[in-house]
Amino acid sequence: MLIVQKYGGSSVADPDRIRAVAEHIVRAHAHGNQVVVVVSAMGKTTDDLVRLAHDVSQQPHGRELDMLLTAGERISMALLCMAMIDMGVHAVSFTGSQAGIVTDTVHGKARILEVKGDRIRETLAAGGVAVVAGFQGISTDKAITTLGRGGSDTTAVAIAAALGAEVCEIYTDVSGVFTADPRLVPEARKLARVSFDEMLEMAATGGRVLALRSVEFARSYNVPVHVRSSFTWEPGTWVVEEDPAMEQAVISGVTHDESDAKVTIAQVADRPGVAAAMFRALADEAVNVDMIVQNVSTAGHTDISFTVPRDDLRRALTVVEKVAAEIEATGVTYDEDVARVTIVGAGMKTNPGIAAKMFEVLAAEGVNIEMISTSSIRISCVIPQSDVEKAVRALHAAFELDQVV
Ligand code: ASP
Ligand code: MG
Repeated sequence: MLIVQKYGGSSVADPDRIRAVAEHIVRAHAHGNQVVVVVSAMGKTTDDLVRLAHDVSQQPHGRELDMLLTAGERISMALLCMAMIDMGVHAVSFTGSQAGIVTDTVHGKARILEVKGDRIRETLAAGGVAVVAGFQGISTDKAITTLGRGGSDTTAVAIAAALGAEVCEIYTDVSGVFTADPRLVPEARKLARVSFDEMLEMAATGGRVLALRSVEFARSYNVPVHVRSSFTWEPGTWVVEEDPAMEQAVISGVTHDESDAKVTIAQVADRPGVAAAMFRALADEAVNVDMIVQNVSTAGHTDISFTVPRDDLRRALTVVEKVAAEIEATGVTYDEDVARVTIVGAGMKTNPGIAAKMFEVLAAEGVNIEMISTSSIRISCVIPQSDVEKAVRALHAAFELDQVV
């Protein structure tokens, strides 16, 4: 069986962890599997490197920052191979570039265009274990690129897709995907399986276990992903294609996200082209706008609210204030103390009343809903940040996510 195993930073944080991981890989290899390993930088190495860059430069140059950050994964991949070689295994490390991971040219958040993987295949054919540095590649312009924070997951899934691996195992410091963040909800349960679509919604709304892009890749290429712990090695959560023969849980999980801010533009003229002007200007500044709500208009005017990542708020406000003046809106306000709670479940499609129930639960807790957005398998509400814990707990209990189905 061909297996891709990805180890996150906490899994290889120190020499003891690296040896424990090496032993696990060697075991899988000894059982007759072909094993390709993708590894992240040790512990908080990437954070340290980012800090170092900002210590020497106001605005680190994209190409050089990527060159620096990819060093983290070089360290862990070489150490992991040394440990395995001592255990008698032919282990060979490769940078993203050596492994033939070709990306576009966007430094800091490059997209993988192609995985050549020749040297990985050669190593496997020679009976060895290939260890690939996560989160990096080489651009079509021959520059070293990184895929964005948490990008090693994406490297692993992309390699698994390219090699046609049976499974992509993502080893981390939690034992799987839970029905809610266990730090907020102690009764949260580990899910045995979750569909690609559900995982995509969870990853996009604050579920921190898998990087969003890795789930997109897994879904596009139908790569089964097994999220599990490198501390206990117990079976974790399978992220797989939805099985139409299996009954779907109505709700699979509650996620929350405290990284957004809300912007409101008051008294916008209600005529064609106004929203287009505003959101075109934001898009041109590469501000990622998420939920958008336009109110019913009174006397030819309306309010428009939307959310942006809190880190982008200043940039967004500069754009919005300029356009607001041009379209003669009366004012721009913002709120950083908001959070988003979301319920996700494939069974929502066939069960009416889920939204009503969610709103009733929040009302019973005295939580005011400021914005709502939905997809066919997700409902999100923006609420005051101070209410997020009680909202998540109440929703988790009301939808009986603590009960084994
Ligand atoms: N080391 C990188 C980061 O910390 C990539 C990863 O961990 O997936 O973001
Ligand atoms: Mg990481």
